Parts: sequence; C-alpha cells; structure tokens
Amino acid sequence: MAFHLPFTDNLALVQEINPTPIPNPYWVGFSNTTADLLGIEHVNGLPNNSEYLEVLAGNQSHIGQNSFKTYATAYSGHQFGSWAGQLGDGRAIYFGDIHGQEIQLKGAGKTAYSRMGDGRAVLRSSIREFLCSEAMHFLGVPTSRALAVVGSDMTVMRETPETIAVCTRVAPSFLRIGHIEHYGHNQMWHELGLTLDNLIEHHYPNCHNSPTPYLTLLDQISLRTARMVAQWQSLGFCHGVLNTDNTSLLGLTLDYGPFGFLDQFQVDHICNHSDHGGRYSYHRQPEALHWNIYCLASAMLQPLKEELKRVHGIDGEDAIQHIKDTLDNYNKEYAKTWQTLFRLKLGLTTECDSDLTLLEALMQTLHREKVDFTLFFRNLSEGLDVPASMNHWYATYQERLSLEKQSMDTRLEGMQTINPKYVLRNHLAQHAIELAQKKDFSEVSRLLKILENPYTSQSVPESYALGPPPDLTAIPISCSS
Ligand code: AMP
Ligand code: MG
Repeated sequence: MAFHLPFTDNLALVQEINPTPIPNPYWVGFSNTTADLLGIEHVNGLPNNSEYLEVLAGNQSHIGQNSFKTYATAYSGHQFGSWAGQLGDGRAIYFGDIHGQEIQLKGAGKTAYSRMGDGRAVLRSSIREFLCSEAMHFLGVPTSRALAVVGSDMTVMRETPETIAVCTRVAPSFLRIGHIEHYGHNQMWHELGLTLDNLIEHHYPNCHNSPTPYLTLLDQISLRTARMVAQWQSLGFCHGVLNTDNTSLLGLTLDYGPFGFLDQFQVDHICNHSDHGGRYSYHRQPEALHWNIYCLASAMLQPLKEELKRVHGIDGEDAIQHIKDTLDNYNKEYAKTWQTLFRLKLGLTTECDSDLTLLEALMQTLHREKVDFTLFFRNLSEGLDVPASMNHWYATYQERLSLEKQSMDTRLEGMQTINPKYVLRNHLAQHAIELAQKKDFSEVSRLLKILENPYTSQSVPESYALGPPPDLTAIPISCSS
C-alpha cells in the first residue's frame, strides 16, 4: 500500500543506496507497540528474531530470505522563509515497507543528498526523536512513529565528539511539502502529477469524488495540517524547525529536532536556540504552517490552474483567487479545532458566546504568571487548586461552569482524558540521554513506558509529572543532531 517513487537513474528524484554499516551495534530503545503495528514479534521488549539488530543498524538489508530495496529521495524546500534549493534524504534511508507503513533508518550513512553532512545522527537526538514520536502518538497527535534506536561506539563530531545511533522511524508516507516543491521548482511536471495522483490514491481517496481532485487534495492537506497544529498548541508542543522540508503531506508531526514541551507558559517561547528571530516560536506555529501550505500551493500551481481551467473555465487572477479562497479554510479549521480542544481542556461541553474571551484571558494569565502549562490543566482536571495569582480568572471560569449540566465527577474524568499528566519535558529526556551515554538504557525504556499512558496516573515518582527543578529550566537545545 505504501507509496513509492518510481526508480530512475535521475538523481534529481531517487537514489538506490545501501546504508553504511556501523561497528558493534547494541539496542538503546525498542517500541513494542510500533513492532505490533508492523507485525514484528517480540519478547521481553526485543524482537524474537535476533537478525533485527543488524538490520536496524543498517548492517544487513535482508531478514531471512526477504531483502529490502533501500533508497533515498530528493526534496527541496524553504528554510526559515528562504528558498534553500535541493535538500533530500541526507541521512535517512528508506528501507522498504511493511503493512502499508514505510520504514526509514535515520542516521544510516551518506546518500547523494548528504551535501556537507556525514549522514549520521547522534545518540542524543536519536533518543529524543524515538521518545517524542511515541509520546506524541500516545497523546493522540498524528505523527511518524519510531521502532527502535540502535547505538554504536563510533563517534562523529558535533559541538563535541558524540557517539552515533540509528533511529528506525515509521509512517504511512514520509512525503513532505519539500518533495512537491522540488518537482515544481525543477518543472518535473510528470513526477509532480504522479506524486499527487499517488497521494490521492493511497492517502486521500475521497478526492476522487471531487470535480477538482488536486484542489481538494490541497484543501485536505491544509485541513489536516491545521488540526495537527491546533493539537500541538493544546499540548504546549513546539516543533522548533517548521521548514517546508519538515512538513508532512499527510499532516503528520515529522522530523523531531530541537522540539520542546512548554514548562512555564510563554506564548513567544522559542525552543530552538538557532531560531534567533522566533519565526517558529509557540504562538507563530499556526501561521508558519499556513505559510508552508502557501508554498505547497505555489509548487502545484500548474496542475491546479490546468484543472480549474478545464473544469470551471476559470483562468488567470480568477483562478489564483479561487485557490486563495480555498487556503482560507486553514484558518477556519485551525480556529475551530483550537477552540474545541481548549473548551474540552476546561471541561466545557457546550458552546457559549463568552468562551473565546474566557480562553483568551486564560492564555494571558498563564503567560503573565509563567504558569506550568501541562501541570495547570492537569491539576484543574484533578480538582486541585489553581495558583492564587489566577483567582480572578478562576472566578470567571467557575461562573461559566455553572452553565454546564455535567456533574463535577464526570467533568473531571473527561478533562483527564485530554489534559496529559506526562509529557516529554526536556529535562526528562536529558536525564535518559545522560544515562544512555553511560550505557545505561533503563531510563529510555522507563520513560517510554510512562509516555505510553500519558493520561493515566501511574505509580512512578511524582517528579515525572512535574516541571524541571530550578537548575534544569533552561537546557539549550540546538539544531545540531
Ligand atoms: P533537518 O534540519 O534535520 O531537517 O535537515 C535539513 C537537511 O539537512 C535535510 O536534507 C537532512 O537530510 C540534511 N542533514 C541534516 N543532518 C545531516 C547529516 N548529519 N548528514 C547529512 N545530511 C544531513
Ligand atoms: Mg528535516
């Protein structure tokens, strides 16, 4: 089922390439639930078949008699608002597909698209991607998944020498806006059409019912993206690098780098220390992704215009206006989803005209008082007191609650299913990484297990649900990975 680009000698599209082997691989982390998704049998937290260690290290491209075609793809993109030209899978190598899921080994060595890079990923960033992919999935956010992290003592140079790892990631498709931009920019109309048709065929089949399938495809990608980012906002998640080459065509959270969950709420929080202008700060994420959707529209302008002319007989400025009107749906979908999610976070099951004012006042108060985002909503759902500095807002909230018909118990129960107790706070990831760097991988497994049930109180130390201790509030997270 999974989508494949056609194999060709043209390196502007795809390169058939083997992973580069790594010395003496060892398991760092393994996700049983992703293994289940792929039908990989496992026992005691590891695959039954011991061949998987070499396979997921990139040292072996077959399991038993089954061999995999391994390849890298070209894409281009806009980075921090500027055209960056050709990029591509510089260190992620496709590794066949199972059960309609594409598999990629990230950090598996150089490809034709590595440019100046070494094709590797360090242990630190691989653990972060592994844990956060899984955490987001269990929070209910559309995302690529992660199957495993395999480490090796081989080192590469970043700010300092660091050991490498390979993270196996999994998604129904890893296609990005950057792929479409690549074909559009290079006027590869055949490949562009083929890719759009494949997307419709495998991932957006209801576009077939539309008289203008490409426009409907654009609309649906934009709606999925709007819903995804509304979920991020509702969880206090910052992606960090929302370039078009990191933006999925399936509305999945993709390419985990310097991401972060907000501890103290600041609407202009920047989680990526290289993002000096704050282009991808928390409150600008929705507009950043809308900008990316405009890039997508502009890359597929030729087929869109052809379609509009053929079907509706509209052309020129009229066609452009028609496409722009479609792109406005993003804002409506985002606003609608955002309000629904935040109403649910507050246990409001009905709609009231004053709700938006209540929500805006909440955001302002959380920001002014630098309240811990996750903890605030979780405490509210457990019927605990809010900080005294929030009493004014809380009184308005209590008044609003009197219009609700649900009993308090039912309301709190519902709120606990949308306000997580456990998210992958930076200091928790950092602790697991520091132990892993000393070859103790137990904290990676432990954190994964906790994050698999983010909405349920677990018998683990309460510190897993709390913000960082004062000395760990500002761990710098750079782009280096
Ligand atoms: P990112 O900022 O991680 O999304 O990466 C941007 C581009 O740089 C993508 O084309 C990556 O494949 C490529 N890249 C990042 N790190 C490396 C590396 N160590 N080796 C080769 N390519 C890389
Ligand atoms: Mg990327």
